[in-house]
Amino acid sequence: MYKSQEGPLALRVRLVEGGGFEVTEAGTRKQVAVYVVRDPQEVPGVARLGPDPLGDGFTREAFGRMLAGEGRQIKGVLRDQGVLAGIGNAYSDEILHVARMSPFKAAASLSEEETDLLYAAIGTTLRDAVARSGALEPGKLKAEKKSGMRVHGRTGEACPVCGDRVREVVYRDRSMQYCPTCQTGGKVLADRRMSRLLN
Ligand SMILES: [Zn+2]
Repeated sequence: MYKSQEGPLALRVRLVEGGGFEVTEAGTRKQVAVYVVRDPQEVPGVARLGPDPLGDGFTREAFGRMLAGEGRQIKGVLRDQGVLAGIGNAYSDEILHVARMSPFKAAASLSEEETDLLYAAIGTTLRDAVARSGALEPGKLKAEKKSGMRVHGRTGEACPVCGDRVREVVYRDRSMQYCPTCQTGGKVLADRRMSRLLN
């Protein structure tokens, strides 16, 4: 097992048969970890993971059940690995932009139609990302992921759908991006910096 706190940001593993993989960490909080085990269920945390959003078990009905009674905002739900495995900060921004939905919307408040849209957006966004990255060498993955983003990491740039300026909400250790015109009815969401100025 290898676990990085403040040390190296990347790990390359080569297996005897010639296969291998690379792991990189981009955020300011370093929490990447790699485990070598015989059964994935031996890894702490894996047993707690939610379903694979591209797997057969993740149906529209299952998604509706996950949201019912969910007390959090939809952005936090999408990036919770215990709800759905594999959607992080970047792809949750992208999915919400495709679904034209505010990241702050209460998950339990979604209508049937909004749930349909969001479910479809999860599938198209992730399948598209997999298709684009599937044939690439590991070293090119990060650049490809970044170039395919519509709003994530694009603060200040033009929304590819409507041309409005992409805005961000900044947290202590991460930020999220969204388009006001597409997602919040034109409303600019407050973040910590803005709240400080207003106080
Ligand atoms: Zn837009």
